[in-house]
Parts: sequence; C-alpha cells; structure tokens
Amino acid sequence: MTLKLNIKDTFSRELPADPILENSRRQVREACFSYVTPKKTAHPKLVHFSSEMLQELGLSKEDAASDSFLNVFSGNSVLPDTNPYAMCYGGHQFGNWAGQLGDGRAINLSEVKHNGKNWAIQLKGAGETPYSRTADGLAVLRSSIREYLCSEAMHHLGIPTTRALSLMLSGDMVMRDVMYDGNPAYEKGAIVSRAAASFLRFGSYEILATQQDTDTLKTLVDYTIKYHYPTLGGPSKETYCQFFKEVAVRSMEMVIHWQRVGFVHGVMNTDNMSILGLTIDYGPYGWLEDYDHHWTPNTTDSANKRYRYGTQPQIVFWNLLQLANALYPLIEEVEPLENVLHEYQRDVKIAYLNMMKSKLGLVETNDQDDQLISSLEGILQRTETDMTIFFRKLAQFKTGDAGKGFVLVSDAFYTPNEISDALKKIWITWFSKYAERLSLETISDSDRAMAMNKINPKYVLRNYMAQLAIDDADRQDYRLIDELFQILKKPYDEQPEHEKWFAKRPEWARNKVGCSMLSCSS
Ligand code: AMP
Ligand code: MG
Repeated sequence: MTLKLNIKDTFSRELPADPILENSRRQVREACFSYVTPKKTAHPKLVHFSSEMLQELGLSKEDAASDSFLNVFSGNSVLPDTNPYAMCYGGHQFGNWAGQLGDGRAINLSEVKHNGKNWAIQLKGAGETPYSRTADGLAVLRSSIREYLCSEAMHHLGIPTTRALSLMLSGDMVMRDVMYDGNPAYEKGAIVSRAAASFLRFGSYEILATQQDTDTLKTLVDYTIKYHYPTLGGPSKETYCQFFKEVAVRSMEMVIHWQRVGFVHGVMNTDNMSILGLTIDYGPYGWLEDYDHHWTPNTTDSANKRYRYGTQPQIVFWNLLQLANALYPLIEEVEPLENVLHEYQRDVKIAYLNMMKSKLGLVETNDQDDQLISSLEGILQRTETDMTIFFRKLAQFKTGDAGKGFVLVSDAFYTPNEISDALKKIWITWFSKYAERLSLETISDSDRAMAMNKINPKYVLRNYMAQLAIDDADRQDYRLIDELFQILKKPYDEQPEHEKWFAKRPEWARNKVGCSMLSCSS
C-alpha cells in the first residue's frame, strides 16, 4: 500500500539548493536548503498518531496502520517522487548571533496539498544533516512526547502552532546528558512527524543577510510572500514593509495567546521564531503553574532568565528587531521598519490589556482597567497561586457576593495557610474593586462565566502531566499519552470525568527534573 499524498513541493523546487549532496557538516552558502536522506531506524514502532492531522493531509486510519506509514514517518523509506531536505538558517541565541544553525535534527519530507491547504511535513529526530554541527540529529522519547502532545494541545487552545502527525519510537538508543552534569545515559530514540504551512524562521532570513547574499534573500522573501502572504502583492519595497508588518502582527498575536494560557516557550531564539507567527520548536517549554512573571522552565537560562514568562512579549520585539535588520537590504530605509517596531510596542500593550480584560470577563471600557489588572498581577505574585485554577474559579464569581471572592479562588493557592492577614485584606479589597467594575458590565454573571471559560482553559499540559506520560511510556505504557491527548482536544470544556487533571501541581513535582526544570538536551 502506498500513501496517497498529494505532493506539491514548492520550497525545494523554487529556492536555491546547496549543490553538495554528501551528508557532511558544512557551512552552506547561496542556498536555502540541503538535500539529505533520513537515517534508517532499527525497529520503528508507532506510538500515537493524530487523527485530525491524518485527515488534514488526506490520509485514512487504514493508512496510519500500514507499513508504508510506519516506514515513511520513521524515515525508513522516502515517498516516491520526493527529495527530502534540511533547511538552512541562522539565529540569535540568548541575545548573540550564533551563525549558521539549520535543521540539525529535522528533515523535510515534502509538501502536501489537501483541501486547499499546504503542509510541509518534517521528521524531527531522523538523523544527522549538514547542519547537525556537533550533535547526532536524533531526538529522545521524552522530548518527542512533549513536542507531540503540546503542539496538538496548543492548536486546540486556539493558538497558532506547528502540528504533529505521529510519534514513533525509532528502536535505537540515544545518549543524552539530561542536566549537562556529566551523567550521560542511553534513552529511547523517537521521531515526531510534524506539519505546518512552512517551517521558515526569522533565522532563515538573517543568515542570508549576514552573508550579504541579497539575491538569495530577495528570492526567499519573494517566495515567502508568494506562498504565505499572497494578498500583500508583487515584489516591491512597500510589499516588503507590509510583509514585516504582518509578521509583527502575527508574532504579537501568538505571544499574547501564550500569556493568556501561561505558556512559556523557554528558548525564544530567532531560529525558533516562525515567519508565520506559529509556535514552533517545543523544547524546554513549560506551563505557569504558580503565577510568576519571573518563571522559566529552561535551566539552561536560569541565570539570566531571558525567556521568562513576563518578558516574552518584549523578546518578540527584540526578535522582530533582528528580522528588521535582516530585511533592511531589501528596503534600504530605516523609517518604515522602525514604524512597524513602534507600532508593535504600542499595540502589544493594548493587546495585552484586552487579553487580560477578557480573562476577567470585562468587555466595557474603563480608565481604571489597567490599574485593576496590574494590582491583580501584583497580588497573584505575592500569593503562590495556580494560574489555570484561579481564572477558572474566577468565572464563578457572583457580583452580589464580592465578600466570597477570596474563598472562591482559594483552591488555587498553593499554601493557603501561609497567607498573612494583611495579604488577605488586599485580596478582599481587590475583589470589592472587581465587583464594582463588573457593575459597569451589561451581561449576567452566568453569561460572563461562559465567556470567561472560553478564554481561560480548564486543562493545559501541566509540566508534571507530560512527565507522568513520559515515565509510563518509558515502561511501554502509552495509555496516558492517549488520555492526555484526548483531554487536551477540549481544553475549555468541563470534562468532569477528567477532573483529576484540574489540580495544582503535586508537591513531588515542585523541583523535579522534567517537571519544573528542563534543559535544552533533547
Ligand atoms: P533548538 O534551540 O532546540 O531549536 O536547537 C538549536 C539548533 O540546534 C538547531 O539548529 C537544531 O537543529 C540544533 N540541534 C538541537 N539538537 C540537535 C541534535 N540532537 N542534533 C543535531 N542538531 C541539533
Ligand atoms: Mg530550533
């Protein structure tokens, strides 16, 4: 049985290829990608697949059960009439230009067109490429489960993201030093197949600008606009400025969504910034449990916490600035690029305020909203509070019962007995202000609750949940992967049968590796 995919390669057909075909590490010039064949795996085993993504790509459940599926999405066989490739890009990592990076452990199989949508399909962890630098091109089961579950969960939260089609074990063992402390060990290798309209990143453009290769840069930007921003028009300086503006808007929308649900990406380097404003490259990401603007799950970043929750919108700005520099050779004027950056700074504040208002169920406009929200952020951070539970409970707040606000949300507090009387008073004052503010709204308590429950998810992929699924999978028990996968398809629904996952992080997970501490080792 062969998979009937409607292959429509554009990236590799229209953009310049690296002429060298050998799979050796190298610096690539005047090219957007290098051809490379995935590594054969020992004993691939399908662990899970996304039925929705099957459909999106025009595949059936029978396809998913076939040997072809197993072989293609583990990298053991190449689809007919396709030439897999790794993309070339650079990036600013933790604030510094890092030179050429590229798909070191991702290999693009092909592009597929189905139901009017274009999908680029990649295997992550399918072996080395010319961009693998000192690493092996492989991925381990734990990080693959995390990417697989989270990308589908983000989609169902309504957040732009790359998607995942399948999760496979490769059958090979992979050596990793999880905490970079000199204790390497073998782990199970795995491969995720993922899909997106495009995997182009800010770094894809930066590398060409750094190489002063304006011709290839122009070719790539024109290609991006033609296929991904077709309404912007034909190649011109104005179109390029519009393109930058659109990328800024999409990136802003993405990061405001992250703030809404408490998602912390963990490695917002410019090579991990999608040109389409998609959440991309799920590595040491995490979910805010305790609402803390300074939290980052990434232990590699623990000293500076550059990519902590509270700075994410400003990091997007910094990354856009790098993209502006990369696009400058095509525009040769600073002002229009600066204007877009200024607009970002203005709009991101407004978007953040509106998002926070929606979390509180506020629709009307009021001068004091900024104040109401920042005072809430302040007390939330003085009281160790579970973000998800807090906002879900807040939806049950009754305007006539302001005095009960504190008790209503107290399930969300991690150490309720340690809340001082002074702090309790501040909470009570806040709730009375909130009740006062709600009196300016026109909708009923129950309608507001319904609206808030569509903004504030009940179920997110808490760090310890992913870790439990990983621990089970390590023992060849994949049921929890499926259970979480199904729950996270309806993150805003009550799903009372899954209430046990609507719970604060258990104490054992507070400082556990994999739960609150993750490294880039994957
Ligand atoms: P990340 O920050 O995880 O997105 O990765 C940064 C860069 O390192 C990218 O160019 C990746 O392709 C590369 N990389 C990460 N892990 C590996 C690996 N195991 N083998 C090869 N390249 C890798
Ligand atoms: Mg990356």
